[in-house]
Amino acid sequence: MATRVGIALGANLGQRLTNIRVARDMLRGLVDPESLYLQAPIYQSQPVDCSSDAPDFYNTVIEIDYIGEPYELLQMTQAVEFRLGREAVYEQNAPRVIDVDILYFGSGVISEEILTIPHPRLLERRFVLQPLNDIRPNLVLPGDTVTISEHHRYLDSDEPPLTLVQSIW
Ligand code: AMP
Repeated sequence: MATRVGIALGANLGQRLTNIRVARDMLRGLVDPESLYLQAPIYQSQPVDCSSDAPDFYNTVIEIDYIGEPYELLQMTQAVEFRLGREAVYEQNAPRVIDVDILYFGSGVISEEILTIPHPRLLERRFVLQPLNDIRPNLVLPGDTVTISEHHRYLDSDEPPLTLVQSIW
């Protein structure tokens, strides 16, 4: 049985667009090429809670039809990060060549340090909520009663507006 899975991609080091494209291609390589695939535009965002000289991020969200278990997918997403040259240990919010976060895994709920689903900061971050709203405005996360569109509309965040980088990529 396939599960609809949302994944956030972010990069603020090196060739940001290339890094995101390569991560996307590797993740798409895991799924049936005939299955429904969604991808949001790429946005540029100012780093949140990072040092003032940290480069801007490129961010997007994709949704795939994944056959397998959540921890298996986590291994895959971490393999993608390391293939792209992510260092083993980053300080929190340090610049990174790629960040791959599992946002939701169908109706799954997991509350472990190694894997928390839905992603705990999903609803607080414009750089995740806005691209997710582009592809899944009517999604209601497990345990929630409100759509992504409503969360996005009422988001109370200090983040400045995102800049559109590329709709088609
Ligand atoms: P970060 O540096 O923000 O990418 O955090 C990576 C760490 O978060 C890894 O140790 C993961 O095991 C853990 N983690 C917990 N929940 C998730 C999730 N939903 N997606 C990706 N990583 C997660």
